[in-house]
Amino acid sequence: MNKGMLIVFSAPSGCGKGTMLAEILKCGNYHCSISATTRDPRENEVDGVNYYFISDEEFERKISENAFLEYAGYCKHYYGTLLSEVDDYLEKGIDVILEIEVKGAMKVMEKRPEAVSIFVVPPSIKELRRRLKKRGTESDEVIEERVAEAAGEISSAEKYDYVIVNDALEDAVNDFFAIMRAEKLKSELSGDIINEVLKNA
Ligand code: 5GP
Repeated sequence: MNKGMLIVFSAPSGCGKGTMLAEILKCGNYHCSISATTRDPRENEVDGVNYYFISDEEFERKISENAFLEYAGYCKHYYGTLLSEVDDYLEKGIDVILEIEVKGAMKVMEKRPEAVSIFVVPPSIKELRRRLKKRGTESDEVIEERVAEAAGEISSAEKYDYVIVNDALEDAVNDFFAIMRAEKLKSELSGDIINEVLKNA
């Protein structure tokens, strides 16, 4: 059995990444890794579903126990991918999506060069700001902080294997599945198929 594919999925906050992921998870069989974070839960977020919401002390303890595949600071909080959310699934042949920011994504690409990396961009910064305001979960100050962070992140998009523009949701989701399909057809993963085809030749 082939191992699962590790997918690094990054997009600045407000790019519609959450909606895109919800659609992707509806149609495909993926495990979306649940990260640990030290930020406070938003009103509709549930511990152990959206994130593991933990204290700074607990986060630092997990760092010292090498529990993370990667972790990074983002807007004054820690965010990290727990190894326990990744390797057990990959071993079982399940594809794992890491929804993480750029610094963490770079660390994963270094440690796991076989990972497929995708960056989602908004059609424009103006549209990004509009979406963040519409969401209404952050103050104006935090929104501007996130817009500045987003602009910095977007300039790293070229370091990813693929870029998707999330203008129309359906097109963006279709682009994701097109990438997955092409990745699964890569010749280096088709050893078993080739052997099967050549059987009794
Ligand atoms: P939010 O606070 O909007 O949920 O997330 C802020 C940023 O942190 C997003 O860009 C999100 O992708 C990123 N993030 C979430 N989990 C992780 C993680 O485990 N590691 C890293 N490096 N970034 C993460």
